[in-house]
Amino acid sequence: MHLANSLIDFHVHIFPAEASANPDAWAAANGEPHWHKLVTSGPQGWADVDALLLAMDMVGIEHAVLQGWYWQQIATCEEHNRCMARWVAKHPQRLSFFATTVPGDPQAVDVLYRAREIGAMGAGELFPPVSGCSLDAPAWDELLFQLEEWDWPVLLHTAEPAGHFYPGRIEVPLQSYVDMALRHPGLRFVLAHWGGGLPFYHLNPKLCASLPNVYYDTAASPLLFKPAIWSVALDCVDADRILFGSDFPLKIYPRFEPAICLRRLIDEALEHLPASASQRILSLNAKKLLSL
Ligand SMILES: [Zn+2]
Repeated sequence: MHLANSLIDFHVHIFPAEASANPDAWAAANGEPHWHKLVTSGPQGWADVDALLLAMDMVGIEHAVLQGWYWQQIATCEEHNRCMARWVAKHPQRLSFFATTVPGDPQAVDVLYRAREIGAMGAGELFPPVSGCSLDAPAWDELLFQLEEWDWPVLLHTAEPAGHFYPGRIEVPLQSYVDMALRHPGLRFVLAHWGGGLPFYHLNPKLCASLPNVYYDTAASPLLFKPAIWSVALDCVDADRILFGSDFPLKIYPRFEPAICLRRLIDEALEHLPASASQRILSLNAKKLLSL
């Protein structure tokens, strides 16, 4: 296995320093109650860029994609995009970033345009319902057409239609994601968290054939599914569709610190994936998608 030092983590979050330092006060001052609910009720871990790079070094991750967040305020998106751009500029070999915006806001596309000017390579992690925008809203479609023009992939949060409750959970029917992907065949979608179970429906050959532009990431996998998910997903979709992502610094194994969680997730993946698939899922697919 020639994986050492070539792994790519497609889904990590580093928040602005002030947000991490004091989530309660920062969220209240900046109008971000949904983020506050999520990070204060679940197994949240915290890390700055140095801690991320250290964790990457410890487990042989060569490159990580900083994902934005589905913020409720445009100002927060601007600030987070600028932070991520700064971190990437300092470590261009190790990090890339996907920019965030508020879907449905009149400034949504402008924010992404400015992020593109400072080095963003895609949009994510977006979750339009948090800003009251449905996946079939004309404003959202307009934004996606713009991304298509830039040849930007977009990473979206998804949740399983049948699953356990957690604070801040918002359910969006999987059919809405399917319809959206069908309306934008030229755009590459990365559906986070195993696409909320959508890979299973690729066993329908008609659906499978019509979604060549949809990828799935593995972020937060152990919080959602037993380790069998790795091989079950591979029974449903081609290995080329799956991207390794951790959701660092979320404590995806709640008893362990974020860096240990990263190690355990890689071990879990390697244990449950055939050798023929692991290199693609943990490295090559992301390189191709990001043109690294
Ligand atoms: Zn997510």
